[in-house]
Amino acid sequence: MAPDLPRRSVIVGGLVLAGAFGGLARPARARAAESPTIIGCDEWGARPNRDVIPVWNQRPIRIIVHHTATANVEDVSRGAADNVARLIQGFHMDRRGWIDTGQNFTISRGGFVLEGRHRSLEVLRGGRRQVEGAHCTGQNVVAVGIENEGTYSAEEPPDALWESLRTTCAYICEQYGIGPAEIVGHRDFKDTACPGDALYGMLPALRGEVAGLLGERLSGKAARRASWPLLRKDDRGAPVQAAQHLLRAAGLPAVQADGRFDDRTLDAVRLFQTAHRTEEVNGVLGGESWPLLVTADGDPAEVERAIRALTPAPAVRASSISGVDDWLRLLDAAARRA
Ligand SMILES: [Zn+2]
Repeated sequence: MAPDLPRRSVIVGGLVLAGAFGGLARPARARAAESPTIIGCDEWGARPNRDVIPVWNQRPIRIIVHHTATANVEDVSRGAADNVARLIQGFHMDRRGWIDTGQNFTISRGGFVLEGRHRSLEVLRGGRRQVEGAHCTGQNVVAVGIENEGTYSAEEPPDALWESLRTTCAYICEQYGIGPAEIVGHRDFKDTACPGDALYGMLPALRGEVAGLLGERLSGKAARRASWPLLRKDDRGAPVQAAQHLLRAAGLPAVQADGRFDDRTLDAVRLFQTAHRTEEVNGVLGGESWPLLVTADGDPAEVERAIRALTPAPAVRASSISGVDDWLRLLDAAARRA
């Protein structure tokens, strides 16, 4: 005999979901973020992985956004999406020598979402474990990597890609309990321009929109997140001058602390990167070299000059800047004033 169900109840697959609170069965919590359609490796014609894919018995804690740095093609078809996934896999396996695609997911210019590394989709559906990737050294067992097709240095991603990036991030956040503030860019950890200045500049908006999709609110400050300024040849300003003082402090006195990222500064950054065995020796000062530079032991007078270059009067006392997080805030604030 049927129990006395409240009105508006629905029966789904044998489960009784009460439409009104206080009924016999409470409704399951509505899912805040539904999965976008994700095209699995078997559907886009992936080659088999060369070795066993490591799967870690832990939930990832962040999402890392990349761009593929390939052409901003006009072809937004499913065929183009499959093709880009195959090209990346071929590049990663044949040129990099990896066991499979490096990133967990790929989003095409047409907004198609594809599984990257094998098992990434099945493991994401489970919501409990992490497929080890090869997209950001040091983060591959704690971060889900998403490659976005195109180059977003100056150009912004097409609407279709953006829409899929939002919904994919929201679904990943939902599955793993990741806060939208933990959506970051490759450059936050490495000396790279990836995911491009334009897309990186859109990450605060992405965090806010993903929070919205999850039914959460994210303050502007949390969405903004402090980041290391990415400094490159020909950049100018206070963060450059601070970097120059820190390079001098670290034993590279050929650098002049004039706030201009010139050839001597470039050489000094390369020497610093070589000495600290960073992944890239490219003269770009980003998320890998900055934490090393601000914690390098060196001449305290130069370190104090670096702090003074970053702080408007009245100067912050050098003794109050003690750790990586203090430097991060100081540099972020100075870069924003510029
Ligand atoms: Zn990247």
